[in-house]
Amino acid sequence: MLETLCLPAGEESIRQAAALLQAGRVVAFPTETVYGLGADALNEQAVRDIFAAKERPADNPLIVHVAERSQLEGLCRVTPTAETLMDAFWPGPLTLLLMKTEKVPDVTTAGLPSVAVRCPSHPVAHALLQVCGIPIAAPSANRSGRPSPTTAQDVYEDMQSRIPFILDGGACDVGVESTVLDLTGGVPCVLRPGAITAEDVASVVGSCTVAPSVMRPLKEGESAPSPGMKHRHYAPKAKMTVYIGSDEAVADAIIKRYDETENAVILAHDSALPLFGDRRAFSLGETPQEGAHLLFRRLREMDALNVSLILAQGWKPEGEALAVMNRMARAAAFDLVVV
Ligand code: AMP
Ligand code: MG
Repeated sequence: MLETLCLPAGEESIRQAAALLQAGRVVAFPTETVYGLGADALNEQAVRDIFAAKERPADNPLIVHVAERSQLEGLCRVTPTAETLMDAFWPGPLTLLLMKTEKVPDVTTAGLPSVAVRCPSHPVAHALLQVCGIPIAAPSANRSGRPSPTTAQDVYEDMQSRIPFILDGGACDVGVESTVLDLTGGVPCVLRPGAITAEDVASVVGSCTVAPSVMRPLKEGESAPSPGMKHRHYAPKAKMTVYIGSDEAVADAIIKRYDETENAVILAHDSALPLFGDRRAFSLGETPQEGAHLLFRRLREMDALNVSLILAQGWKPEGEALAVMNRMARAAAFDLVVV
């Protein structure tokens, strides 16, 4: 059986991880968003091994990570808008969709003519990318369908004996995946919301739209603008309902459901927690950013507790809250209640 080594990130372990990547192996590493499962983006077999380790459907493309903008040369067509956005937000949690060249294998982009590229700001991710010197394809390091991993322990849980190496860089800062921004059409369009908002993008390049499927399920026959959106995602084992409204209104609605359900739990804002008395209630922080940081950790904790129902307090799905609400809505299979 393959042994999975998990080492704290340091000069030596980063060199080890880089050597494995250069040899076409799969390595998990921390980024500022979530942990990534990386391999040489231009090596077909290495990329196939990522899909196998994750049990990821082959039609769900990967994001290509680089240490420097210059590494994109020959991989994709960098437009002036892309340059402007890179000046403003790279390194950071912004993924850009650009037209690819034939150098990028079809397995990496799931056969799409575009490639998703990102330059992470996490010092360990940056050092790893710099030392190995190759573009690294990396989706989130969870098994497909599970909440994304925000600690090395989460990765180990999902990837034990599937990959040779995990770099442990502590808990991820942002906690949800990068913003995916489509630059292949006219106006830039957010396909997946993240820490960098549509408003942030618009403030730099003038305008930016958000794909409607960000906050609703795909309609029958509707094609997903971003293939990741059509797959079951971020799901805890338990059923989940998300409530949006004032602390008091949300607490009323949640308490009613909680009291008539066996083995339910509550995820709520800090300001609402005192309203739940001695019921099992956990913090999602107060701001949407704190919620994003905690959400996947909490969903994994609830999996471990084997709860039957998660009653969660959300935020109004707009601006900075869109990223966390996109994940909460999907985790709840769009069972959203406005009170
Ligand atoms: P993950 O790395 O697990 O966060 O997944 C990357 C996500 O980026 C995918 O699920 C897609 O939704 C999106 N993505 C990557 N490449 C493309 C592409 N060429 N076109 C549209 N969406 C993409
Ligand atoms: Mg993912």
